[in-house]
Parts: sequence; C-alpha cells; structure tokens
Amino acid sequence: MGIVSLLGVVLLLGILCAESKYMVYNTSSGIDAGKINVHLVPHTHGDVGWLKTVDQYYVGSNNSIQGACVQNVLDSILPALLADKNRKFIYVEQAFFQRWWRDQSELIQSIVKKLVSSGQLEFINGGMCMHDEAVTHYIDMIDQTTLGQRFIKEEFGVTPRIGWQIDPFGHSAVQAYLLGAEVGFDSFFFGRIDYQDRIKRKKEKSLEVIWRGSKSLGSSAQIFAGAFPQNYEPPRGFYFEVNDDSPIVQDDIDLFDYNVQDRVNDFVAAAIAQANVTRTNHIMWTMGTDFKYQYALTWFRNMDKLIHYVNKVGFELYSTPSIYTDAKYAMSKSWPLKTDDYFPYADRANAYWTGYFTSRPALKRYVRTMSGYHLAARQLEFFKGRSDSGPNTDSLADALAIAQHHDAVTGTEKQHVANDYAKRLSIGYAEAEKVVASSLACLADSNSFIGCGDSTTNFQQCPLLNITYCPASETDLSDGKKLIVVVYNSLGWKREDVIRFPVVNEDVIVHDSEGRKIESQLVPTVDAYVDLRNYYVRAYLGSNPNAVPKYWLAFTVSVLPLGFSTYIISTSQRTGAGSTKSAIYKFQRDERSAVEVGEGNLKLTFAVPQANLINYINSRNLVKESVEQSFSFYIGYNGSLDKEPQNSGAYIFRPNGTYLIKPEQASLTVIQGPLIHEVHQQINPWIFQTTRLYKEKEHVEVEFIVGPVPIDDGFGKEVVTQITTSLDNSKTFYTDSNGRDFIKRIRDFRTDWDLEVNQPFAGNYYPINLGIYIQDSEKEFSVLVDRSIGGSSIVDGQIELMLHRRLLLDDSRGVAEALNETVCVRDDCRGLAVQGKYYYRIDPLGEGAKWRRSFGQQIYSPLLLAFAEEDGDNWMSSHIPTFSGIDDSYTLPDNIAVITLQELDDGKTLLRLAHLFEIGENSVLSVVTSVELKKLFPGKKIAKVTEVSLSANQEREEMEKKRLVWKVEGSSGENPKVVRGGPLDPKKLVVELAPMEIRTFFIEFDHTSFKRKFDA
Ligand SMILES: [Zn+2]
Repeated sequence: MGIVSLLGVVLLLGILCAESKYMVYNTSSGIDAGKINVHLVPHTHGDVGWLKTVDQYYVGSNNSIQGACVQNVLDSILPALLADKNRKFIYVEQAFFQRWWRDQSELIQSIVKKLVSSGQLEFINGGMCMHDEAVTHYIDMIDQTTLGQRFIKEEFGVTPRIGWQIDPFGHSAVQAYLLGAEVGFDSFFFGRIDYQDRIKRKKEKSLEVIWRGSKSLGSSAQIFAGAFPQNYEPPRGFYFEVNDDSPIVQDDIDLFDYNVQDRVNDFVAAAIAQANVTRTNHIMWTMGTDFKYQYALTWFRNMDKLIHYVNKVGFELYSTPSIYTDAKYAMSKSWPLKTDDYFPYADRANAYWTGYFTSRPALKRYVRTMSGYHLAARQLEFFKGRSDSGPNTDSLADALAIAQHHDAVTGTEKQHVANDYAKRLSIGYAEAEKVVASSLACLADSNSFIGCGDSTTNFQQCPLLNITYCPASETDLSDGKKLIVVVYNSLGWKREDVIRFPVVNEDVIVHDSEGRKIESQLVPTVDAYVDLRNYYVRAYLGSNPNAVPKYWLAFTVSVLPLGFSTYIISTSQRTGAGSTKSAIYKFQRDERSAVEVGEGNLKLTFAVPQANLINYINSRNLVKESVEQSFSFYIGYNGSLDKEPQNSGAYIFRPNGTYLIKPEQASLTVIQGPLIHEVHQQINPWIFQTTRLYKEKEHVEVEFIVGPVPIDDGFGKEVVTQITTSLDNSKTFYTDSNGRDFIKRIRDFRTDWDLEVNQPFAGNYYPINLGIYIQDSEKEFSVLVDRSIGGSSIVDGQIELMLHRRLLLDDSRGVAEALNETVCVRDDCRGLAVQGKYYYRIDPLGEGAKWRRSFGQQIYSPLLLAFAEEDGDNWMSSHIPTFSGIDDSYTLPDNIAVITLQELDDGKTLLRLAHLFEIGENSVLSVVTSVELKKLFPGKKIAKVTEVSLSANQEREEMEKKRLVWKVEGSSGENPKVVRGGPLDPKKLVVELAPMEIRTFFIEFDHTSFKRKFDA
C-alpha cells in the first residue's frame, strides 16, 4: 500500500523542483487513508528544574550550564503560529506557562486564547510539571495535575485530552489508569521503556497498547497508551533548532547546496522505518526535544518545506497527539492488552534506572512530609475559611507540584537545583504553618464566631522534630508554667497513637482535656540523636541549639476524625507522680544469651551475641518467625575505563559487589517503659538503629540513622538493609504503584518478554512508596516505608531496602555531577546523614492488607502537633479542647480516606474520597462502601454536589460521555464486570465507592444556613 507507492514516486522527484521565487508552501494537508500519514508533532520539553532551577530555565539565566530559556520558546511560538494557520504546537508544563502568562499583555493573552480555541496551540498533560511516576505519591500526582489543569480550564475553558509523559524513567500503573483514564485522557504517550521490551514490541508492532493499570477497575479505567519507537526526539537528521547540525531543507535553486531530493528521501526512509514497527498507517514524529523552539521559525520553516515537498509523494501533516489519537481510533482496530507497569527501566544492558528510586533520600522524605502536611493544612484552612490575601496553602501547593517533576523528587537534578526545591518547600511550609496555627487557634477559641476574628493563641509547630529539635516543647515548666499540646488528626477515623517530643523537665505530668492523668514515658535522648540535632540545627538554622533536652516525652493520645484533642503538660507536685522514666539496660556480648522486649501482643527476642537475630512472636494471632536483620552496602561501579562506560550514579544503580556490614559492637541498649520499648544498636560508626515496639501496636518500627557514608577509600556506596525471614516466597514479591495498587513482581522475570538478566540486583529493584510484601502458604511479611525508596526481594524470604546512596561518579545521563550530598556548617562539610523509619509486621496469610492500608494512611498523615503556653486562664475551661470536623456520631468506614478537603479560590469545596483496598485484598474491606456526605459537613447545608473528573476540570458525566471505547485483541478483550459506585442521589447524598475507586466532588454550601458546629 502506501509504502510501495511512496517509494515509487520518490525517484521522480527531480522534476518536482521548485523555482527560485517567493514560495507559498502548501501545509494544508489532512489525513489520507491510502498513504502513510506522518503526524509531525511540534513540541518542546521543559524540565521544571534539572541542571538549572525552574526560574533559571524560565528566564534563561545560568546559560553556561545549559542554553535554555523557556520565555524565548513561548515568545517565539506565537509569531510562528500566526504566520500559518496550519502550524500547530503543543505545550505541557504549566509551571512555565503560568510564569509566562502572568507576564503577557491583554492583547497577547487574547491572541493566545484564539490560538488555543482554534487548536493551533494545544495544552496536553496540563499538570504543573511532567511528574515522575516511580517515586511520587498518588495524592501529589493528583494535586499537581489538578493545579495545572484547573488553571487551563479557568483561563481557556479547555480540558487537556492527552497524557504526555515523554521523559519519566519508566511508567506506572497508577499513571495509566488514575492520572490517565480517570483524568479523562483519551490516550497517553511516553518515551522510556526497557530496551529489551522495546525490541520485542517493535518486532510485534505492540508499542501501542490498551493499558489496564488497575485490577480492580479493569476495563473501566483503561487507556490507549503508546511508547515511542525510540525517544521523544525527531528521527535523526530532522533537528531544526538554530544551532542543530541536521541539514536544513535548501530549496532555492539559485543557491548552492540545493538538497530537496535528499531531504525528501531521508524523510521517506525514516517514515518507512517507523511505519514498519507501527500498526495502522499513522505514525507520529515528535518534532522537538528539551528546551527547543527558542527560535521556533527554524523548525516551522523546515517542516513547511518538508510537508510541501513530501506531500507530493507521500503524506505528512502538522498534527498533535489528539489528532493522532483520533486517527488511530477511527481505524477501529484491536490493540494488544497491557497490564501492570513499565518498571524497572533500563536503556541498555547494565544501565538500570533503579538508583533514583532512593537518590536524595532526605529530599524524598521532605517531599513526603510536606505532602501529608499539605493535606492536613488544607483541611484546617477549610474549617477556618480560606483567605486569598492572607496566608494560605497555595505556595506550599505550588512548591509541592514543582517537586514532583521527574528531575526533582527523583534526585536526578544538580545539587543547587535540589536546594532550590527544598527552599521552595520551606517557604511554602512557613506560610501553611501560619494557616494551621491560626485555624487551630480559631477552632480552639470558644469566643470566636464565623470568620475567626481575634484569637490570640500563638501555636508553635516543630518541623525539625525529626532531629529532636522543638523549641516550643523544650520550654522550662519548673516555675509552674503549663504547656498546651493540640494534636490534629487529618484521617477520617478516630485515632489512638503515641506522640513524642523533647522536654527539659524530668518530673512532668500529662493530663487530657477532662483533667485525667495520662500515662506517659520519658525516653532518654541518646548520643546518636544528640549529634544529629547539634549539627543539623546549626546547618539548617545557622544558630546553635539550646542545651539538649535529656528526654523525649511520650504518651498515648486519642483524637477524633478530622479533629483535635488537647493535652496539658506540667511539672508534677511530687516526685514519682509524673511520667515514668524508662529503664535502661546495656547488654554486652557474653552477658546473657537473649533479651526480650515488648509490653503488648508483639514480643521480640534479640539474641545478644548476634543482635541481628530476632525471634518475633505475636501472642494474639500466634505468628512466630525468626527474623534476621542486617546492613550491607554495594560498591558503586566505576566504569570509567570500560569500552562502554557505565558508572553507578544518580539515575543508575550499577553495583560492583555487596559487602555485609558486621556490627562492630555487640552491645545492645534496651529502653523499657510502660508504652514503648526500644533496642538501640550502634551498628558501625555511621549506622545507628533503634528498633521500637509500642504496647498497643502489633508492628515493629525501625528507625535508622545512616551516614555520613565514608568515601575515604575512594568508593561510592549504596547502603541497604535486609530483613530475612523463613518465608518461601518463590521469587515473588509485591510492591505498590505510587502508594496505591500492589503489583506482583517475580525475580529475574518480566511478564511481557523473556528477560535476559545482566544485573541480578539492579534489574530486580522496584520503586516503593507505600510498601513491599512477600508471602508463602502460611504467612505474609510486609514492610512499609516513610518515603519513596528502592527495594526488592533478592533472595527468598528476604526484603531489601536501599536507604542511602553516596556516589563519586556521574552516570552519563546528563546531570554531570556525582551524587555526593554534603551538609555544611561554615567550612565544616560532612556527608549527608539520613534518618528514617520503616515498619514491618508478619501476619497470617490474607490478613496483611488491613495493616498495610490503614497504617499506611497513618504514616502518610502523621498526627500534627501544635504547642502553646497556658496564658494565665485555665486553658481547658476557656477553650474548646476537642473538636471533630465531621458529625460527632460519624466516622469514615475503615476502607475510605478523605484525600482532599479544600476550599477553592472560587468558594467551592473540593472533596476527594478514596477507597483504600483492591478487589480481593481483604475479605471484609474489599467491598463497595458508602459515605454520608451530610455527616461530613455538620452545621452546613449542602446546596449542590457535582461529581467531577479526578483533576476537577470537568463534570464526570460529561467526561464519561466523551470517553473513547477501544477494542482489545483476543479473549482479553472481553471486559469482565467491573464494580463501580452508583450515581449520587442528590437528596440522600450518599457516595458509594468500589475497591480502588476515587471520587471527586465540588460541593457548594448554602451559606445562609452556615453555622459552626459547636455554635449550633
Ligand atoms: Zn525531562
């Protein structure tokens, strides 16, 4: 067909040459069913920070690093599009576009609006950035997409149709079904899949598939997904930036180097090559790459000519991914089915992009912490009422959005850019902190009415609590002062949990709001934590911290759903009446054979001679297991002298040997008290570990401090911990997709092709955001994490987590820096130490999901602490000590979470409810569940509820009507019945959610009936 006829005509081109005069190029081509249609998609790829910061890329500063200026791109696109109505351009990253939009005159804005409505300029993807898909949490992905897409809707009235994730390093199931189908995209395109997978897919013409990312939502959330045959750049020889070296199309016969025939031949050859690996006669050429079109006319001038000349023989057109998608859809073909995801990604043998799952673990933790805080701060902003002028949560939202970029939270940016992301988060936090403080003050102030006028309480929070630094709680109470602690719970369930913070007094006593004494425990602050505090407070705040408090005060709090409780800390009148001081025991190697810890159902027995051997016994469910817990490091591969150099670096994990870290000291320190038992182990001079058990909990909490990782031997190191059990998981393990669906992984195996194993460690690593688990016929062993991290099950029975990476070489993927993070106090620079937690638990088979899901939410949304000093009056009698934002009689079902409760700038309320379980995951909780909206908003009258798309830029019904119905090849095309919640009854206002469903609503209240709950 097309290919043959196209070839035939190429030979005749000699007679089609142009004359040297003013030329009108015919660019008005449409689709021709009988020929190969080459869709030229002019695009630019704007990294929202990478080698330069987002602002540097926008204004075009720091060009010695990279000649890139997004302002130039957007400025030059306009005249180029206006010059010919057939020309088209797509734009993706709203963080850049919004910066530019704010700078434009009304005239330019109106011109841009016309270009958008005519389809010449099309927004695709539409989030603030092109987020990463491995190390991002689904709530952050949703938030950043919503932020960008709602701006597009408000300014232009359009909804992006296409997912465009061309550069992220592998692709997630959650991206396909949640951030794809549930956002209302018609298709989704990307550039990076495993090189072995790509070879096979090209052979089978299966680069384009129907992707069903969710077991639970199946065909109801499937999407047409296309991997590019090579990358997101043009075919070789068709780069037309001013300084590119591809031959331009020279068609002036009076000048030398006339080359129309050569260029057309090149074009046809490249088109045929691509057509040979693609189904249907439509192929897409991505005409652009990173920061291109700074002088857009060079691209369009050459594409105009190519379209003009090639159209005489074949077929090409200015296109967009939307036009391409419609053309594919119109062919009414069946497509191969794809399930699970595209991780891990290797671009060639020995180049697995699995190092970035862990790179910059401190930044990753900061992003995750801010994400959970953002969710809570928005709730509190909603309760108080949003202020457009005063402090609000917008700048934190913006900073978080940018941090999801595929060179931000990934850790693959230059150091100064990583610092820029952290700075933005810190500025955003500082403003959100004010929102939280004033909202809590308002809600606690019994005299305040609507609008929260003049509450005087100045609540302090402690963002550096992780390094044992909390000036607000370190106040001296010995002169009779009292410390008020307000504890906010952003989950929709009542929660009992142990909180802890540093205190300076020893004889403290804790009372709840009813005046009851609460059992509490003083846990000593040991050297490893003191060192962290002293160094990092100086590094972060530039000042010396006060004397180190000797204790952490820990006690159990009970907090209502979306609510707070208040506790009072004071010094006790008589010694012994207050907190229980922990007992401390230190065991040497030969002193005794074993030591048992645990006050509740779960007990651990540590073997003293080899402290990494632990006997795990849960007396409630009778689970017993022997656990071995150890640390190792991989040496980062140095390939500088190899023929095909490939070092381990920020992106790539390429180990050169594994080394077990043998504990240098065999001693164990045991801390015991009524609430918490801890076992402290100094593993070596740069690894400290605390194993913690809570009386009321049935999981193990492990807190690690790793670093500074030594490099004086000249080797980069990647530090891992291994937790080994006797479970026979026969190579199989499960890791989450962006904190949501769990995906089955099999060691040294891929579902889609016969894997050639070159990297038995790196090639089996997967991203973990929520957790990882293994199981056998009796038990399941789950590990949950506090940030995104890389991990695997490299040998049966074992789970491995990579905790920290410090490397000395660059891995040749562009960043041109070694991942060697340091922290400096003046001239004293040290390798970064990382502190973090993971949690593990062993359950009878089939019972692990309940803990993974509900405790997983608690990790994401820790209790928020705010401190104040009692100001004379009796606090409890002059304030509202407990609060719940929802009806007193109500709690959300165990399988549902509120993932967004936000007052938007137009006064509407945005509510997102998420079912937390997959089908079949739990016999009781993997079912359709209802939420009563009326009970979520006591004291307010709901006037209108509108269900919208996940990104809140169109009505759900409208989105479903437009949805393309794609056909799937073979028997897999039969759609098994999918369960979804039914439509919302506008009177009853009860929302049904099926497993893994997320539903998004605009809620409008009748403000005449507005009443605060406690005034009612
Ligand atoms: Zn990129």
